[in-house]
Amino acid sequence: MTVRVPAKVNLQLGVGPIRDDGYHGLVNVFHAVSLFDEVTAVHAERLEVRVQAAPYSRVDIGGVPTGDDNLAAKAAGLVAARLGVEPRVALRIRKAIPVAGGMAGGSADAAAALVACARLWDDRDDPALTRDDLMELGAEIGSDVPFAVLGGTAVGVGRGERLTSALTRGTFHWVFATAGGGLSTPAVYAECDRLREEQGEPPPRPGVSEELMTALATGDAKGLATALTNDLEPAALSLRPSLGRVLDAGRDLGAAGALVSGSGPTCAFLAETEEDAADLASALDGTGLAAQVLRASGPVPGATVV
Ligand code: ATP
Repeated sequence: MTVRVPAKVNLQLGVGPIRDDGYHGLVNVFHAVSLFDEVTAVHAERLEVRVQAAPYSRVDIGGVPTGDDNLAAKAAGLVAARLGVEPRVALRIRKAIPVAGGMAGGSADAAAALVACARLWDDRDDPALTRDDLMELGAEIGSDVPFAVLGGTAVGVGRGERLTSALTRGTFHWVFATAGGGLSTPAVYAECDRLREEQGEPPPRPGVSEELMTALATGDAKGLATALTNDLEPAALSLRPSLGRVLDAGRDLGAAGALVSGSGPTCAFLAETEEDAADLASALDGTGLAAQVLRASGPVPGATVV
């Protein structure tokens, strides 16, 4: 059972105050883009994970665990427990999504494993676990997992896991600049808190951007470009100042919009047309500032059996 699953970029990442449970209140507009990992689940004696870079991808898989702490393995365990079976499955993960890049690659693999294992162990026309059930299970693994099951473009509130699909029109064209070496998501949140404390201002309570929603609904790339925001960007730039040069280079080379993707260090650039994206990608590649320059479009569907 092979499932293909997309990366995400956050079109809006609003980070509110820390809640009583220790998480930040978030407003998150997720957008699935056409950079895919693939997870294949095969019956086996015991739970095993194998990770490789996808063909033609230069993703560095060095930091990806192959034991129980791989998020796909966690997902398989949860599905097995829910279905009352033993997690006897070999998971082969082919990665094209940058690792620790702020594009939720680990969460994507977890989502793919949820869908693949649910189908492997229960192939009835009317399976016990619905897509909604899998999204709920995914939230136990991490707040980005339900979106990787759902795909498209969606607004998440709470920890980011309560999702509502957003109305969009047409296709948006993206260029991504990856960086050598990842950024840890918890470290970026901690830096965000530190910077806010230093500034002495209470964190704003974020709300969904109307401007962003209108641009999505009308397929207005220029409008979307000006509405992109990421409250984690100052923290990512503080931890990795070189990202500022990457963002500036993309803007100088004609990107309509530029921002750090999620917790970084991948930088995302929105182009007005597919042709503009191609021109921007080759120009950005020529600067030598990025480890790798990738093109993708969105929105695309979530975890899908292939
Ligand atoms: P996010 O955007 O959700 O913050 P990210 O894209 O920054 O995530 P990931 O690629 O999801 O980061 O990986 C973060 C860490 O999770 C990795 O450094 C790795 O140790 C761990 N991890 C566990 N399972 C996986 C997996 N299947 N693929 C990648 N990383 C994994």
